[in-house]
Order: sequence, then structure tokens, then C-alpha cells
Amino acid sequence: MKKIAVIGAGTMGNGIAHVFAQSGFNVNLIDISQASLERGLATIANNLDRMVAKESISETNKAATLANILTFTHIMDGVSEVDLVVEAATENLDIKLKIFKNLDEMCQPQTILASNTSSISITQIASVTQRPDKVIGMHFMNPVPIMKLVEIIRGYSTSDEVTQTIMDLSEKLGKTPTEVNDYPGFVANRILMPMINEAIETLYHGVAGVTEIDTVMKLGMAHPMGPLQLADFIGLDVCLSILNVMYDGFKNPKYAPCPLLVNMVMAGKLGVKSGEGFYDYSESKKAEKVSAQFK
Ligand code: NAD
Repeated sequence: MKKIAVIGAGTMGNGIAHVFAQSGFNVNLIDISQASLERGLATIANNLDRMVAKESISETNKAATLANILTFTHIMDGVSEVDLVVEAATENLDIKLKIFKNLDEMCQPQTILASNTSSISITQIASVTQRPDKVIGMHFMNPVPIMKLVEIIRGYSTSDEVTQTIMDLSEKLGKTPTEVNDYPGFVANRILMPMINEAIETLYHGVAGVTEIDTVMKLGMAHPMGPLQLADFIGLDVCLSILNVMYDGFKNPKYAPCPLLVNMVMAGKLGVKSGEGFYDYSESKKAEKVSAQFK
């Protein structure tokens, strides 16, 4: 494998493009929004600058990484010659089904199609393609250049060979792949999202304030980040979509999203990416609060 495409240049897509490019792959980064592509490239450059400052990479590595990334606004321009596509577009079933149907028509027959979805069924995504054996979940964690885990999700028809190829590839990226089966939320979000939702319920019921809830979980449970701050990093819209997928998939009220989360998403308070969630990320505060987390 040498050439890959990443669909979506948002929070996750730019991180995925970064790690592949830094490992020497040619990456076609594709997003329908030119603004997202520009923001994504700027984020990659900033993260590389931080690595140069810490002397974990050289200026030459940085330049080579950036040179490995090309950007496109139309899927068809960037996928016809790649060995692998990693889809990291918005967490929405209709958007993903449309993208995979298009990818199946535009990619070569041997190309593996992976999704970075947090919760949507890989089996359902695979069902709109003529190659369900070559469709797989490749669930990176945020922030991608730092987090070691890749949750590898086998759909109902994913072949052993494709699973092994993606496990090996994840290791080549310096990650630790872990294989799981295809049920709503997989493993990571089935356990994480009820905790985040319960933290929001705790706030909603007035048991404690935002910093108090996060402090209890950070200092009391040795979590590196409180659940409300983590929700801001993930994106409150993404958290809501994942909870809805699990609520619909299991028909169990324990996954019902807290009304406060629903209200915040409707009000456009999406966390770091919109500048405000449970915390304020306006430009002046962003530098001190956000980047400090990952030093
Ligand atoms: P995001 O909102 O930051 O970015 C999504 C990007 O997809 C946007 O730039 C948007 O313009 C683009 N997009 C939408 N439709 C598209 C299309 N048809 N073709 C190309 N680009 C399109 O979202 P995100 O947080 O990066 O999430 C992306 C995926 O990664 C989702 O499936 C999400 O569940 C998953 N994920 C997110 C996190 C997280 O912490 N945010 C962690 C793991 C997995």
C-alpha cells in the first residue's frame, strides 16, 4: 500500500491524513468544503510545528509530510488510483451511505474501503457496495497523531485477509490495532458515551457545575481529562449522533441522550470546533486551555 485517500478534513480527517503522510504514504485529502481543507492543512502544519519544536521530528520530516498531502473538493478526482480509502466525513448515516456507493463505483475493485465512524454499522455501510468483504471500520481516536489505539471493526462480511491487512497497516502507522465486532458504538463508544451522557445528566440535574464534575473524574478516577471537556473535544454533535445510533440500535433507554446535550447541539454549541461547548474556546482562551492539554 502506497496511496490512500481520506474523505473529510475535519477533526479526525486531518489527523488521519497527518499520520499516513508522516509514515510516507501519498495522501489525497478530500472534503466538499474548501474551508475545511484549508483549516485541516493549517492544523496539520501547526501540529508538525509543535513536533519540530519538541525535536520529535526535523524540519525535513515536516516538509516531506506536507509534500505527501494533496487536497481535492471532488471525490472522483482523488480516489481512482488509491489502495485504501479512509472515510472520516460527518457522522450521518445518509452521508456515509452515499459516499460508499460513490466510492464503490469510482475505486478500483481491489481498493479497501474503511470508515472511521464512531458508531454506525459497518455491515450497513458495506451493504451499499459490491465489495462488502473489503469494507471495514478503522476507528482512530482523537487526537489522531497522539492516541495509540485504532479500533478495527469487522463487518458481517469483512474478510480475514482484509482485516489482517488493516491490522498490519495500523501497526506500520505506529498504532495499536484492536479487533472488535460490529454492534452499535462498538467497544470504545459503548463504554465512553454513557459516561459522558451521565456527566451531562449530572450537570442538567444541578448536582455539580462543569469544572466540579470534571475535577471529580480527573482527580478521583485519574482520567487525563474530565468527561465534559472530552465531550467538547469530540464535538457535542458527534456525541449526540453516537448516542442516537446506540439508542436506536439497542432500543434501550439507557442510551437516550440528555435533553441538555440535545439543546446545546441545536443552539450550535458544539465544543472546541464551534468555539463554545461546556467551556469557552474563544481565540484568546483557546491557546492556554486547548493546546495545554496535549503538551
Ligand atoms: P467534523 O465535523 O470535524 O468533520 C467532518 C468533515 O466531513 C467536514 O469537514 C465536512 O465538510 C466533511 N464532509 C461532510 N460530508 C462530506 C462528503 N460528502 N464528502 C467529503 N467530505 C464531507 O467531524 P469529525 O469529528 O472529524 O468526525 C468524522 C468522523 O470521525 C465521524 O464518523 C465521527 O463519528 C468519527 N470520529 C470522531 C471522533 C471525534 O473525536 N470527533 C473520534 C473518532 C471518530
